[in-house]
Amino acid sequence: MIANQLKNAKVPVDYEIFNERTIMDFLNYDFKILIDGRLCKPVKGGTMNIINPANNKVVAKAPKCTIEDVEKAVEAAKKAKFAWKNTYVGERAGYLFKLANIIREHAEELIPMETAQYGGPLSKTSNFDIPAAIGEFEFMAGLGRSLTGMTISADPMSRVMTFREPCGVVGLITPWNFPLVTAVSKLAPALVTGNTCILKPASCAPLTVLKLAEYVVEAGIPDGVVNILSGPGSEVGEAIVSSRDVNKVSFTGDSHIGKRIMEIASSMVKPVASELGGKNAMIILDDAELDAVVETATYSAFFNSGQNCGSPSRLYVQEGIYDKFVEHFVSAAGKIIVGDPMDPKTMMGPLAYNGCRDTAERFIESAKKNGSKVLLGGERPTAPEMKDGAFVMPTIIEAYDNKQEFMQEEIFAPVVGIMKIKTAQEGIDFVNDCRYGLCASIWSTDFRKALKMIDKIEVGTAWINQHLNIVPETPWGGTKESGWTKENSVLVLDEYTYHKHIWMNIDEKPHTFWEKMLDIS
Ligand code: NDP
Repeated sequence: MIANQLKNAKVPVDYEIFNERTIMDFLNYDFKILIDGRLCKPVKGGTMNIINPANNKVVAKAPKCTIEDVEKAVEAAKKAKFAWKNTYVGERAGYLFKLANIIREHAEELIPMETAQYGGPLSKTSNFDIPAAIGEFEFMAGLGRSLTGMTISADPMSRVMTFREPCGVVGLITPWNFPLVTAVSKLAPALVTGNTCILKPASCAPLTVLKLAEYVVEAGIPDGVVNILSGPGSEVGEAIVSSRDVNKVSFTGDSHIGKRIMEIASSMVKPVASELGGKNAMIILDDAELDAVVETATYSAFFNSGQNCGSPSRLYVQEGIYDKFVEHFVSAAGKIIVGDPMDPKTMMGPLAYNGCRDTAERFIESAKKNGSKVLLGGERPTAPEMKDGAFVMPTIIEAYDNKQEFMQEEIFAPVVGIMKIKTAQEGIDFVNDCRYGLCASIWSTDFRKALKMIDKIEVGTAWINQHLNIVPETPWGGTKESGWTKENSVLVLDEYTYHKHIWMNIDEKPHTFWEKMLDIS
């Protein structure tokens, strides 16, 4: 479904160019950070190795910033903020269109770069990551121009209204699972609404965002409006969040890190937009359409090796359809082609780095130890060409208790728990009995029943007979420990602006406060 909706944005790709030589070029490439309109090296000149998770070889070297670089970037963003805010919105939108076009022109370089740094297969990076980044810039360019305030009928002798103000300097901190598009989905709305930005991508996959730094210069965006720094979250990320001159932080990542960021920000009453972890569910009822649910469950659970914020990782299946569903789901997941992400036929590549694979394996081992049956996978691939990579085969584990660790915790890997339920209500109770509340889907041909169920489910996004359908036009975000923010859609404009309230008195002979209070006019 996502792929269908992105067909228009799809970029032409010549797979032949994605060979070993292209990857070597990344290694020889001098990636730079962006501060105050200048592409430069960090003050202390550090670099970090970027590892290709398919073979654990160094694929590139990226700048490693420190607090000194954050200070310079904050200063630049602060200096630029009033001029940028006062730029005509159409001009700001024009820069977004320019960035979309530049990305389109460079797609054939960005696609393998994205694949090499975090293992998303070419089929995904060419059909989703890069087209989606283009789509986000174009959508936000149009959307930003529709920003309005309110007029309020508070008093006949007054004119009361609100104007949308940008937050000011915003810190944008992003994860590795869709490196470019998660960065763009923050940068685009922040810029078009008049904020200046400091963007920090994840340390294991910063390359395409560092390329974006070059495109910002090429597009002619004024100095200081966009600053891009790569470097460790514990130092660079925390320095951005801790700076008194950063007026708002928008963060996507793990819930634990999100809490740490909120903790630091709370001492300054700094707002934090947070898109955090999830433990997303599918409730599959007896009257679900079997083929449709099997296809969607297979795709959405294992797409990008299950490293999607919206991937379902716990499936509650009603007893009447359970055996049939399990048989078909296991069979379909068993046919997923796992392999070198640079091979265009590969459906699922490695996890983003060895640590992610180790976490997945810990959960699988603990489930086995506790008596759960592994219905598929549970191990690394045996093919010799994958032995050095961070691979885990598509894995399905049968749960006997919703409290089991793998049914409660985010694993962020191709590991799915499946559990039999008796009734729809039992499914609802299980979905809600979890600290996360990002998304869930209900599978039933009875829409009335499904809609009523959605009323009772505590998530930010709920689908009926669909899962993982995320496009720029629709809001995305969670509840509970998944964060309370909305990205995409018209709602994202609220994240990067606030209403400045203005009250004008038009009474030629205004009464004084005492006259009104004491009625002595
Ligand atoms: P992390 O939380 O580990 O990292 C996200 C970003 O935060 C990185 O840039 C990281 O830098 C930075 N960071 C780390 N520590 C700090 C800190 N103390 N202060 C400030 N910044 C810090 O997430 P992952 O990159 O591992 O991404 C996976 C997670 O993201 C999953 O939990 C997933 O659910 C979530 N996610 C949620 C989405 C949603 O829409 N709800 C969408 C996509 C992902 P560094 O890389 O240097 O550590």
